[in-house]
Amino acid sequence: MCHRVAVSRTTILLWILALMALEIQHLKWIWWEYWDCRGCSAKHKDCACGATRTWLMFL
Ligand SMILES: [Zn+2]
Repeated sequence: MCHRVAVSRTTILLWILALMALEIQHLKWIWWEYWDCRGCSAKHKDCACGATRTWLMFL
């Protein structure tokens, strides 16, 4: 009984982590597709000034 509860908690925790990872990917995609670069005011995916490349090292 106790063991089963522990397993289901671990499963839930893994699900939460997976959903968080998915959400981070989603936010990164929004940032990439829709946000303007501060350096050249193009969208990050169209950025040519190199500021986006610096950010990609953190993401
Ligand atoms: Zn740029």
